[in-house]
Amino acid sequence: MKRKNKNILKLIVGVVIFIYVFISSGAIKQIKDASALAFKDDDTKQKVVQNGNLSVYFIDVGQADCILISTDNHNMLIDAGNNEDGKLLVSYLKTLNVDKIDYLVGTHPHEDHIGGMDDIINNFKIDKYFMPDEISTTKTFEDVLDALEKNNLTYTTPKDGESYNLGDATIKVIHVKENAADLNESSIVLRLTYGNNSFLFTGDATKKVEQEILSSNVEIKSDVLKVAHHGSNYSSNEDFLRAVSPKYAVISVGKDNIYNHPNSSTLSKLNKLNITVYRTDEVGTVIFKSDGNNILVETIKTNTNG
Ligand SMILES: [Zn+2]
Repeated sequence: MKRKNKNILKLIVGVVIFIYVFISSGAIKQIKDASALAFKDDDTKQKVVQNGNLSVYFIDVGQADCILISTDNHNMLIDAGNNEDGKLLVSYLKTLNVDKIDYLVGTHPHEDHIGGMDDIINNFKIDKYFMPDEISTTKTFEDVLDALEKNNLTYTTPKDGESYNLGDATIKVIHVKENAADLNESSIVLRLTYGNNSFLFTGDATKKVEQEILSSNVEIKSDVLKVAHHGSNYSSNEDFLRAVSPKYAVISVGKDNIYNHPNSSTLSKLNKLNITVYRTDEVGTVIFKSDGNNILVETIKTNTNG
């Protein structure tokens, strides 16, 4: 055999021995196991990892509510501040590259929740507008109806237990009250889940509504709670706070407001339960970022809250 052919034969034998050792060492088996593990993981978590993060902005609008939920080019806006916040909100949302709102929610028809709604409806493409089936005779409410009509939109009143997808997040309707005794009681309550993280949005829901939610045994345990009704004494039963058992609570409230919100009893209940509280009158806009497992909190002064 020629020397060159001998070298080729040695090389072939070497490669065969290497492959044999590689297989018998279990290296291939380990690679197979690793890919099997990846598929065994929870489907939701896989999606979260693929498509990135979720951001929830509790926008500082003074004595009012406005919450933006944003994930993978999908947006949901819950409430829109007071009348004078409308234009400010439009420009703030534009700086965040919001051009379309998948779900716009007016939790209930009070000015501090639907005040800026007409500006939002006139400036963004809205897929769906949710509100309770309640009529108000205020000009603010008329302005919202006019803006809906002008933009060929109608409103939908969601039903308890319905779920909506926002990218990889799920929004579940926790409570919508029919024939509410007052407008706060009619507040639409929503729970958002994203992977293993969850948020509860309560509008101005009253203690009576909280009791009804507790009696319905629906899952409300959440990492983040929007404290109902700006921290007033008409909301936040201790039982309810214990059931939600949040790590973080946000109180959307104006500095030195005439209602004396948040009430000291609400603050002491939150404190007693070791819940970390962020108040928009103290820290400005509060932003939560979730990767489906972990939550980061940032605060930023975006408005002169008064
Ligand atoms: Zn309110």
